[in-house]
Amino acid sequence: MSEIKNIGKVILAGAGPGDPDLITIKTVNYLQQADVVLTDRLVSEEILTRYVNTSAEIIRVGKQCRRGISTSQKTINELIIKHALQGKLVVRLKGGDVSIFSNILDELQTLQEHNIQFEIIPGVTASLGAAAYAGIPLTARDHSTAVRLLTFYKSRVVSDDYWKELANTDDTLVFYMSSETLDDVVEKLLQNKIASNKLLAVVEQATTPFQQVYISDLYDYQNTLKGKIFLSPSLVIIGKVVSLHEKFAWFKSNNDHEHYFKPLTKSSLIQHEQKEGITVLV
Ligand code: SAH
Repeated sequence: MSEIKNIGKVILAGAGPGDPDLITIKTVNYLQQADVVLTDRLVSEEILTRYVNTSAEIIRVGKQCRRGISTSQKTINELIIKHALQGKLVVRLKGGDVSIFSNILDELQTLQEHNIQFEIIPGVTASLGAAAYAGIPLTARDHSTAVRLLTFYKSRVVSDDYWKELANTDDTLVFYMSSETLDDVVEKLLQNKIASNKLLAVVEQATTPFQQVYISDLYDYQNTLKGKIFLSPSLVIIGKVVSLHEKFAWFKSNNDHEHYFKPLTKSSLIQHEQKEGITVLV
C-alpha cells in the first residue's frame, strides 16, 4: 500500500505560444507546487522564472530536429518515470497545447504502463495565438467556415489527392512546422489552381515581442517571400481570412529580429544527460 501512495503524479500541461500571460491559471498553480518541471524548447525562460517555484528542478528536454539537436523521446520518458516513481509532482510542460503536433501519446502510454496518475491541461495552441495577435480570425463569417491544422515537414505527410482538396477547399489552412518547406507548399497549391483571392501569412514568433507577420498573394509569392528564411518558430496561415490582417492587426511588436526562444545547444543537453546518467542523445 505505502508503495502505491509514494508514486507521484505527472501533469501534462500546455504553456501557450509565447506570451507568458497566455498560460492557464491551472498550469501556473501546478508550476508553483511542482518538484520537477520537464520543459520543451518552445517554453520561454520568462514562464519558467515567473511561475515555477524556486525549489523545483527544471530539466530542459527540448527538440530541434532541423538543427540535429534533440533530447530523444526515450530519454524524456525515462526522466518522467524516474521522477514520478520517486513520489514527486512532475510537470511536463509543452509549448502551445499538449495535444497538437506533440509526442503526448508516447508519454501517455509510458505513464499508463507504469500505473502513474496523470492530468492533461490544455494550452493556447500556436494557431490560435497567431490568429489573435495577427488579427486574422480563422473562421470569420463570409470568409471561411472551418479551419484545418496541418503540417508539411516532409513530403509524404500530404498526398497528391489531398493537395488538390486543400487547394480547392474554403477552409482556412494552418501549417505547423512548415516554414522551411513553404516554397513547396505554395507550389503544390498553385499547381492545383488555388483561388487568387486567398492570401498567405507567415507569423514568426507569434505572441512574443518579436512577432513579425509577412503577407503575400500566393500568385506573387515568387517575388515576395520565396526562399526567405523565417525565424523559428513560424506558422503559415492560408485562406481568405488572411486579408483581414490589414484591417485588424493590433499587436505592436518591437521590430527586432531576435530569437525569443533560446536555440538549443548540444552542451546544454549533454550536461543534463550526463547529470542524469543517461547517454541517449540523437
Ligand atoms: N504543441 C504546439 C506545436 C508544436 S509543433 C502548439 O500547440 O502550438 C512546433 C510548431 O508550432 C512550430 O514549428 C511552429 O510552426 C508552431 N509554433 C509554436 N509556437 C509558435 C509561435 N509562437 N509562433 C509561430 N509558430 C509557432
